[in-house]
Amino acid sequence: MLCLTLAKKTIEEDIADFWKNRAYIGIAEIRLDALDFKELEKVSSLTNQVDLPLILTCRRKADGGFWMGTEKKRIQILKQILELGDFSYIDIESDVKRPEFEAFIKSKSIQIIRSFHDFEGVPLDLYSKISKLASKGDIPKIAVTPKTVSDLILIFKVESELASIKEKIIIGMGPMGVCTRILYKKVGSMLCYCSDDDMNLGLLSPRILSELYRADRVNAKTHIYGVIGNPVLQSVSPQIHNPGFHAIRFNAIYVPFLVDNVRAFFHLAEVIQIFGFSVTIPHKIDVLPYLGKSTREVRLIGSCNTVVRKMNLWKGINTDYYGFINPLLPYFDSEQIHEAVVIGAGGASRAVIWALKNRGVKITILNRTVEKAKALALETMSNYDSLENADKYSGRSDLIVQTTPLGMGEKVDFDPAPKLKFLGTEIVYDLIYKPHLTKFLERANDSGCILCYGIDMLVEQGKLQFEEFTGYHYPSINIVF
Ligand code: NAP
Repeated sequence: MLCLTLAKKTIEEDIADFWKNRAYIGIAEIRLDALDFKELEKVSSLTNQVDLPLILTCRRKADGGFWMGTEKKRIQILKQILELGDFSYIDIESDVKRPEFEAFIKSKSIQIIRSFHDFEGVPLDLYSKISKLASKGDIPKIAVTPKTVSDLILIFKVESELASIKEKIIIGMGPMGVCTRILYKKVGSMLCYCSDDDMNLGLLSPRILSELYRADRVNAKTHIYGVIGNPVLQSVSPQIHNPGFHAIRFNAIYVPFLVDNVRAFFHLAEVIQIFGFSVTIPHKIDVLPYLGKSTREVRLIGSCNTVVRKMNLWKGINTDYYGFINPLLPYFDSEQIHEAVVIGAGGASRAVIWALKNRGVKITILNRTVEKAKALALETMSNYDSLENADKYSGRSDLIVQTTPLGMGEKVDFDPAPKLKFLGTEIVYDLIYKPHLTKFLERANDSGCILCYGIDMLVEQGKLQFEEFTGYHYPSINIVF
C-alpha cells in the first residue's frame, strides 16, 4: 500500500491533495500537527469526504513533526477527534504510556501503530526494538536514517530476521533511505509513506512510486536492478529502464542507490539479490576490483558504467563507449569524420577518445590541466594542448566533442572554450544532457554546425544497458524525462 501523507495547513487542501492522488494510493495519513489550530474542529469532515482507510497522527516536534503544545493537550485532541471521525489506525510514539487512552482506542477497534524515530542513524538493536514495539500486539513502525550502505543492509534484513511479524512499517529516511521506500515490500513494510511535498525526508510522490516504479507490484519474483552513485537521486536512468521493463512485461524494478562504499554495496547486492546495475560518478573505477569478468572496452578505458550478474560472477561493461559513438555512425559511413578535438580529459573523455581512436580518428585533447591531457594523449597516441589555447584549433577538425561539466548545473551559462571558433562545417557534440542545448551547442548552432546532443548518448548507453540486463532490445516507446 502507498500511504499519502496529508500535511497541509487546511482540511480543504488535504481533501484536494487526497483526490489528486486517489488513483495511486491505498491509505492516507492525516497529520494533525501540520494543520492550522482552527482547522482541528473540521477533521471529522475529512473522514466523511475520503473513501480509504485513514491513519491519525499528531507528530511532536522532537519526532520530526510540528506539534509544540503540551502532551496533555495532544492526547486530549487525539481523543476528541477519534470520537468524531472514522479512523482505522492511530500512530502513537513508542515512549507514550497512557493505558487509559490506549484502552479507549482499542474499545473503538482502532489499531495502534507504535512508532520509533531516529533522525541520526540506524540503531544497532533495530531488530529487538521492532520486536519490543510489536510485543503488545501493536503494529511496530520504525523510521530510521541510514547514513551508510551498511545501515541499508540492516534495514533490508529486517524481513528475513523478523518474518514472523507480519504487519510492520519500516522506513529509511533521508536521501540514502529512498531505495528502502521504493523497495518497501522487500523491506517487509506493509506501507510506504509518500507525498507531493518535499519534506526533506526522502519522500517520493505517489505518482512516481506508482507509475514509474510500480512499487506496490514488487513481489518475491521481481528482479532488482539499479544505479549506484553519489549523488544519484537526480539520475534519469530510472526513466529509461522502468518503462522499458514494463513494456516488455518483465517483472523487474530499477532503483537509485546512494552509495558511499562500493564494497558494502556488493554485499547489499547479495542480500537483496540485485541482478545488475548502472554505475555513475564517482564509482566507475571503484567497481573494477569486484568484477570477475570485463569487456575489452572496460579494460581499455579503465572504467565501467554497467555491472551484470553472469552465473556466479559480476561482469563489467562500458556502454558509454558505444553510447557515444552510435549517434555518430551515419557521419562515419559518409566519411565526414577524420580529425577531432576533444575538450576535457576526465572519465567520460576516456570513453570518447578510445571510441574515436578505434575508428581511426586523429585526436587533439584540450584540457584545463595540461598534464592530464598529456597522460591521456600518450596512452592513446593523440595530440594535446591546454584548453587556454583552444583558439589555435578553430577550423582544424571535423568533430568537436565537449566532455566537461561546463554548461550544466551551476555552470549552465559557461562556454568551456569561448575562443574556439566554428566554421559551420563541423559536427559539434556536447555530452551534457541537461540542458538539452548548452551555451556551447547554441553557439555551434548559430554557426550552422551539425549538432549531437548528450541526451542521445545517454539514451543510447541506457538502451545498451537494458539489453545487458534483460537480453531484449529496448522496446519502441517514448522515453519521457
Ligand atoms: P570528470 O571525470 O570529473 O572530468 C571532468 C573534466 O572536465 C576534466 O577534464 C576537468 O578538467 C574538466 N573541467 C571540470 N571543471 C572545469 C572547469 N571549471 N574548467 C575547465 N575544465 C573543467 O567528469 P566526467 O565523468 O568525465 O563527466 C564529464 C561530463 O560528461 C559531465 O557533465 C557528465 O554529465 C557528462 N557525461 C554525459 C554522459 C551522457 O551519457 N551524455 C555520460 C557520461 C558523462 P581538469 O582535468 O582540469 O580537472
